[in-house]
Amino acid sequence: MKDFWRHVPLQDMTPQQWESLCDGCGKCCLHKLEDEEDGGVYYTKVACRLLDCQTAKCSDYTNRKQQVPGCTTLDPNNIEAFFWMPSTCAYRRLAEGQLLPKWHPLRTGDPDSTRKHNRSIAGLCLSERDVEEEDYELHIVNWVQ
Ligand code: SF4
Ligand code: SF4
Repeated sequence: MKDFWRHVPLQDMTPQQWESLCDGCGKCCLHKLEDEEDGGVYYTKVACRLLDCQTAKCSDYTNRKQQVPGCTTLDPNNIEAFFWMPSTCAYRRLAEGQLLPKWHPLRTGDPDSTRKHNRSIAGLCLSERDVEEEDYELHIVNWVQ
């Protein structure tokens, strides 16, 4: 169904529809730091070790949970987990009653439109393999939100 995301509630989407909501930006694979005092969430440009930083794609999506137990799997039943997702994330936007952005692949018909509109972290992140955890704070960025 064209524009299914406008009409089908998140809870009623098929697995294929649900997966197609992901714009491939890769932002959810970045490490985040939480301010212990105010609960604020700060994104860093340090990415999960499985993320290919050139393409912003998970290098082992099928086995990701075995390799990275902390990897979050979003589904309509853990909607409360969406609050820390970037404001551009389709899942968060729909959960908050917003539309998908105009550059989203489901609106453009171009699977590469996220990158073409500079909404992907491809080429912008650092792998956690190359950064000491105590240095994550040095890599806080403001271009994720
Ligand atoms: S932030 Fe949302 S849209 Fe972007 S890769 Fe993660 S799940 Fe997909
Ligand atoms: S395991 Fe894959 S999907 Fe999960 S955070 Fe890491 S790169 Fe992202």
